[in-house]
Amino acid sequence: MASLPSTRRGFLTLVGTAAPVIWLAALPRGAQAALPHLSVASNATAAALKYTEDASKAQAPRKTGQDCSNCQHFQGKAGQAYGPCALFPGFDVNAKGWCAGYAAKA
Ligand code: SF4
Repeated sequence: MASLPSTRRGFLTLVGTAAPVIWLAALPRGAQAALPHLSVASNATAAALKYTEDASKAQAPRKTGQDCSNCQHFQGKAGQAYGPCALFPGFDVNAKGWCAGYAAKA
């Protein structure tokens, strides 16, 4: 188990190392770097769920008006062009996109 530094220098080194990590973790989501955009070319789940960047080009079962911005899985803010999706961790999806995992916001 790691022990706390016993010297002032050791303590300052520890604080200096940890501070940037703590600072990044404390940033609001919108201030962090954007995630890579989801792509059906490199993500098998996106392909299976027929993800598209342009909901207007999606095939059935999409219904008129459905897009990522009004899906309950979309975690971006209103007006944001891209945002995270609970179904695709580590990626941003297009707010105007769509996939078969769509579920209307309550
Ligand atoms: S689950 Fe919803 S937010 Fe995520 S890609 Fe599909 S339609 Fe968009």
